[in-house]
Amino acid sequence: MIARILFLAAVLLLAGLTGWWLGGWPAALGGVVLGSLLALGVDSRRGLRFNHWLMAPDAANPPAVRGLWGEAAYRVSKVLRAEQRKAQDSAQRMEAVLSAIQASPNGVVLLDADGRMEWFNHTAAQHFGFQSRRDLLQHVVNLVREPAFVSYFNAGDFAQPVQMLGRPLAGSQPARLSVQIHPYGEGRKLLLSNDVTATARAEAMRRDFVANVSHEIRTPLTVLAGFVETMQTLPLGEQERESYLQLMAAQARRMQTLVDDLLTLSRLEGSPLPGDAERVDLVAMMRQCEDEARGLSGILHPPEGQPQQISFGPAPDFALAGAAGEVRSAVSNLIINAVRYTPAGGRIGVGWRHLPDGAVRLEVTDTGPGIAPEHLPRLAERFYRVDRSRSRESGGTGLGLAIAKHVAQRHGGELQITSQLGKGSCFALLFPAYRVRPLAVVTPAPATAPT
Ligand code: ADP
Repeated sequence: MIARILFLAAVLLLAGLTGWWLGGWPAALGGVVLGSLLALGVDSRRGLRFNHWLMAPDAANPPAVRGLWGEAAYRVSKVLRAEQRKAQDSAQRMEAVLSAIQASPNGVVLLDADGRMEWFNHTAAQHFGFQSRRDLLQHVVNLVREPAFVSYFNAGDFAQPVQMLGRPLAGSQPARLSVQIHPYGEGRKLLLSNDVTATARAEAMRRDFVANVSHEIRTPLTVLAGFVETMQTLPLGEQERESYLQLMAAQARRMQTLVDDLLTLSRLEGSPLPGDAERVDLVAMMRQCEDEARGLSGILHPPEGQPQQISFGPAPDFALAGAAGEVRSAVSNLIINAVRYTPAGGRIGVGWRHLPDGAVRLEVTDTGPGIAPEHLPRLAERFYRVDRSRSRESGGTGLGLAIAKHVAQRHGGELQITSQLGKGSCFALLFPAYRVRPLAVVTPAPATAPT
């Protein structure tokens, strides 16, 4: 400020002195007036340039003016630069927060105080079928029209989430969503959506499973309780007693088989995957399975009628690395099924073979009733049966193929089923090459030297 006053005083003095030197006191006065006008002109010009720059200030290029206006322009541009840096920082921070929310596996929608969508992430777009350009600033209830959501939104009680079906973008399946709104700020809302399809499916499977098990156990239990009551209340002859006891024993066996199969399944689900340290001696195992199959076939189809023709292929020339108990249970289930479902006089063949890629396959073929193609994809589901009464009559639990499939998968293999209605079926267990081991070479004991 002092510099400005000094500058003005110097200009006026110089103009006054010049006037006095040229023409005495009147000219000196004229010089001072002229000097004042000149100083005012220069100052106004600088002020105008500053004002012009201020209308659209470019912080990096302040106007090159001297004096007070130059100083002011410099200070304003400094403040502007600081503000711009701050704005840039907060924009970057905002960007980072939004990209973190973008990466969230949950759907996130930001709603303004009127319920209009200000922002949403990709997951929310997938859950609700939103398209960013079209749908931003639309009221959420205009886009998410599921009645459960509309009444949840309108009720305004957001303490609990609401479950609803999503409306995905074209080409994907609608997900089951759990949606919850969290109010924040001044009337704003944060909407979070969570895909609970898998949980809902698992919960439905658990409910079905419990219902199935209860049903399977209740039937023999009811029969058993009926017999017990009859024996308690009615005077029975020795022969009747004997036949009742046999029927009761059959029901008890049925329950026991079911419980055994359930335990096997639960062990398969709860135990770690079989390593390759344990060896499965297939030769001994196949011998046991053959004895079991011939024994059961003899009971179901006595030799005086039309016996089944059962043939087992040559003993396997390899061993498997895996859990012996599990493999035995899977193999035995397939063979026993073939015996149970193949009618008298039918043929059953069992054999192992090598595949070109080093894998091995156990095939159990039969000339039984065969299975219609529509049943094949669901055959290995727990308790799935093509013919319920037939399965129960022959002592089935509906869990045999589920166990076989589980065991194969735990060993890196698979259960393969082919069948032709009225002709027969082939159930096969495939084990990958890395599970195949050469048979142990038995080295003869060294001959002891005669003493
Ligand atoms: P189940 O104890 O009822 O036999 P499984 O899981 O072993 O249960 O088999 C499921 C269903 O597959 C059976 O109920 C039966 O309908 C069908 N099935 C299994 N093996 C055969 C077979 N060899 N021939 C025809 N149908 C079969």
